[in-house]
Amino acid sequence: MSDSIECIKCLIIGSGPAGYSAAIYAARADLKPVVYTGMEPGGQLTTTTEVDNYPGYPNGIDGPAMMMEFQQQAERFGTEVRIGMITEVELGKKPGDIHKACVDNAKWIEAETVIISTGATAKYLGLPSEQRLRGGGVSACAVCDGFFYKGQDVAIVGGGDTAAEEATYLANICRKVTMLVRRDEMRASKAMQHRVNACKNIDLRYNTEIDEVLGDQVVEGLRMVNNQTGEKETIAITGLFIAIGHKPNTDIFKGILDMDEAGYLITKGKSTKTNIPGVFAAGDVQDKEYRQAVTAAGTGCMAALDAERYLASLESSDVEDRAELKEGV
Ligand SMILES: Cc1cc2nc3c(=O)[nH]c(=O)nc-3n(C[C@H](O)[C@H](O)[C@H](O)COP(=O)(O)OP(=O)(O)OC[C@H]3O[C@@H](n4cnc5c(N)ncnc54)[C@H](O)[C@@H]3O)c2cc1C
Repeated sequence: MSDSIECIKCLIIGSGPAGYSAAIYAARADLKPVVYTGMEPGGQLTTTTEVDNYPGYPNGIDGPAMMMEFQQQAERFGTEVRIGMITEVELGKKPGDIHKACVDNAKWIEAETVIISTGATAKYLGLPSEQRLRGGGVSACAVCDGFFYKGQDVAIVGGGDTAAEEATYLANICRKVTMLVRRDEMRASKAMQHRVNACKNIDLRYNTEIDEVLGDQVVEGLRMVNNQTGEKETIAITGLFIAIGHKPNTDIFKGILDMDEAGYLITKGKSTKTNIPGVFAAGDVQDKEYRQAVTAAGTGCMAALDAERYLASLESSDVEDRAELKEGV
C-alpha cells in the first residue's frame, strides 16, 4: 500500500451553498473537486425547516432537502464528497505552490487550489428554552425567517448594527417588535439607532434580558427581566430573533490568511482571491454583510471560476517560460 500523499486540483472546505456551488462549477470545469463536509454536512440550512427565498423553488423547500439537491447536483458532475473536518492547513505562498490540508488530525491531502467555504456560525444566548425552540420560532436570521411572522408580534435580542438592521426589517413586516438591549445603550451606529427610533412599532427595552422563552412546541411568549431592577415581565410573541453576532469558522486560518477583526476572511476587490495565490474564499466566511444562501452560492460560483482561471494562468506562464527557455531568453 502506498503512503504517498494524494494531490488534487481543487479542495473545497465546507458543504453549504457556497461549497456545493463552487463544486458544481469546478467539476464542470474538470477540476475534479473534493469537498470535505465538516461537522455540518449541508451547512446551516440543514438547521431550518423552510427556505422560501431561494430562487427556483416556487413553493419553498425544506432546508435539508434543498442541500441534498445541491450535493446531488455537484456529484452529478463528478464532485467527490467526503465526510471530514479540515483541522490544519499549510498554504504555499507563491503562485503554483501546492497547499496542504490535514483531515481529522489524521491524514494530509495536497491541492493545487483551495476554496474555503466554512461559513459563519450564528451565536445564541445558550438558554435551554431558547435552544429547545430553535426552529420552532427562535431564529438567528430575520431576513430568512421574518416573513413567516408577517402581521404578528415578535421580539429581537441584540444592540449592534445587525440587530438594529434586523429590527427595522422586522418592523416593516410584523405588527410589533420588542427589542431587548442588554446594556443601557445600543452599540449600533447613531444612524442605525435613528432608524430604530423612527419605527413606531419597535418597543425598545434597555437593560433587558431574556429570562425564559415560553412555549411547548413553538414560541408563545417571552419572560423578560430588567437586569437593573430584577423586575420581570411576560409578553406574548410568536417569533424570537437572536441577533448577537456570528463567529466565522476561520480559526485554522489565523495567522495565515488575512481576516478582519471579527475573523471574516478578506478577499481582494470583487474577486474571491485571498492573500495567498490559489486560495479562494466564498460564502458567509467572507461576507458579514448579506449572509444569505443565494449570495453564498453566487460567491461559490465565483470562487470556482477564479480557481479555474488561476490554474489556467499557471499553465500559460509555464508555456511562456518554456518558450523563453527554448529561445534562450
Ligand atoms: C436558522 C437559519 C435559517 C436560515 N434561513 C435562510 C433562508 O431561508 N434563506 C437564505 O438565503 N439563507 C438562510 N440562512 C442563511 C444561510 O444558511 C447561510 O447564508 C448559508 O448557509 C451560508 O452558506 P455557506 O456555504 O457560506 O456556509 P454554511 O452553510 O454555514 O456551511 C459551512 C460549511 O462549512 C463546513 N465547515 C466548517 N468548518 C469546516 C472545516 N474546518 N472543515 C470542513 N468543513 C468545515 C460546515 O460543516 C458546513 O458544511 C439561514 C441561516 C440559519 C442559521
